[in-house]
Amino acid sequence: MEIVAHGLWAATAAITAKRSTRASVNVGWAVWWAAFPDVLAFGPAVAAGLWLRLSGGSQAGSGDGHFLPHVHIGLPLYLAGHSLVVFLLVFGIATMLMHRIVFEMFGWLLHILIDIPTHSLRYYATRFLWPVSDYRIDGIAWWTPWFWAATYAALVLAYFVMWKKGWLWPVRPLADRRPQPG
Ligand SMILES: [Zn+2]
Repeated sequence: MEIVAHGLWAATAAITAKRSTRASVNVGWAVWWAAFPDVLAFGPAVAAGLWLRLSGGSQAGSGDGHFLPHVHIGLPLYLAGHSLVVFLLVFGIATMLMHRIVFEMFGWLLHILIDIPTHSLRYYATRFLWPVSDYRIDGIAWWTPWFWAATYAALVLAYFVMWKKGWLWPVRPLADRRPQPG
């Protein structure tokens, strides 16, 4: 799935969890963690490309100069960010350091779970057990037009339901709800 849909799904999950369980979940952080695997995978290369371009070293890779030079960073960042093994490790460490379950990090978990069935073997099929196993499944590529349209139709429905429930607005302080005296 692409990064925007990941963020919207994570916000849906975080808002629903927050409103139906009164758990303290920060929606913004949940969205950040949902974007994290792709930021980790593509962010450093984009940043390095920008820096090369700004520092005038872009001519070599870009032809007409309108595109960012292609920078290949030789770390398995895409694999690490999309691995349940790595997630569990980092989540465990974060839970110990913060002395609480960092619910917002479930955004990252959700990203991996969504990516497993939405990539095909031909392109970035999610190796969710990396580095233990290369096992992956042949899913429906998220950029398949009908699938992408269905994803956004489902998101529109989810946001409509949350809007109807009044979940998209901030929680009113208790004082506002008390009946006026007299
Ligand atoms: Zn991804």
